[in-house]
Amino acid sequence: MFTPEAIKQRFPIFDQETPHGHDLIYLDNAATCHKPQSVINAITDFYTKGYGTVGRASYWPASDTTKQFNQVRFKVKELISAEHEEEIVFTFGTTDGINKLANSFLRPRLNAGDEVIVSEMEHHANILAWQKVCQEKGATLKVIPIQASGELDYNAYEALLNEKVKFLAITGISNALGVKNDLVRVVRAAKKHDVPVFIDAAQSLSHDEINVVELDCDFLVFSGHKLYGPTGVGAMYGKKALLEEMSPMSFGGGIVKEVGFDVTSFQGSPTKHEAGTPNIAGVLGMGAAIDFVNEIGYDQIGEHTHEITAYALEGLQAMEGVQVIGDVADRAPVISFVMDGVHPHDLSTFLNEKGICIRAGHHCAQPLMNRMKVPATARISFAIYNTKSDIDTLLKELKEIKAFLT
Ligand code: PMP
Repeated sequence: MFTPEAIKQRFPIFDQETPHGHDLIYLDNAATCHKPQSVINAITDFYTKGYGTVGRASYWPASDTTKQFNQVRFKVKELISAEHEEEIVFTFGTTDGINKLANSFLRPRLNAGDEVIVSEMEHHANILAWQKVCQEKGATLKVIPIQASGELDYNAYEALLNEKVKFLAITGISNALGVKNDLVRVVRAAKKHDVPVFIDAAQSLSHDEINVVELDCDFLVFSGHKLYGPTGVGAMYGKKALLEEMSPMSFGGGIVKEVGFDVTSFQGSPTKHEAGTPNIAGVLGMGAAIDFVNEIGYDQIGEHTHEITAYALEGLQAMEGVQVIGDVADRAPVISFVMDGVHPHDLSTFLNEKGICIRAGHHCAQPLMNRMKVPATARISFAIYNTKSDIDTLLKELKEIKAFLT
């Protein structure tokens, strides 16, 4: 068992005061999470004790680094219960993975008249790259509507599936409302129509265990930085046969068997998809982050974040003039709300002065904001190190702001 207070002590950022002289209360974990000391150590150890490139050189420390680098591939494979290490490709993050997939997988397979499905709750990263390919190919981007509650309209989704649909891209969790999608139902329906499924797991893997084999998705991506790891790194899962069949996701050093000016032959996956020198420090840091998540365990992470989310919801719902956006039955630790008469940006500015970090805006989900009929929300999102006391302080300050501004 752990206590969130003890966990917090493993994150050095919380040792210092904010510029306004307060303890840091960090409630923007859906954007990015802080790093435990073990992740920071993994990065500094790499640069100070064994820095070298990967996959290219046999001398020490490159050989050791390559070994550690590939151990992280194994850790990612285990984390998402993939079958083969070749199915894990390191990327520079979720956005990078989506763009690579759009160009390398979707573009060559899409023709005029085809359809690609996304949902109304997607982060812009999971709309724009697919939209661009559709526009170029004369295909249509179809949108799964969401209900007034903020949840996916599953019946409408199922009605969109037909033989023209060539791809489905959907998030596991809405970064703006915290809605969790029933991915099992979504994938099962797509498979009945042989539609390849891509899962945006940027939000999911911080909270939920995912088994890609049981889920039967074709692709999945996530970012290290939302999983207590570094920025600039992430991973993509793709079914082995699809990754083998695809042409390299980018072109450059380290991916070839033989290069000629007329013909070039490529290695297999994942090598052929990882052109150039990767973010080695990032990958090693992400490995330490996965160790951290495994040490705590998804059960404890889920239990704790669920408890504090319920606590925060209760407090917000009891506050007059505050509306929580979305009536979500299965909620990740993300809550969007508005306060009558106070713009979310003002809320976040006032709270910042008290050492409390919350997010205000459209959360890169403008279609969703339009659907919910709000231009912007205030968003709080929790991680394993947040405590009930963080929420008590937030609620107290919200009451003061409300009394002061309305
Ligand atoms: N999808 C979702 C659901 C997200 O929440 C985010 C980050 N807010 C992204 C994609 C993009 O992730 P990144 O910025 O790490 O590429």
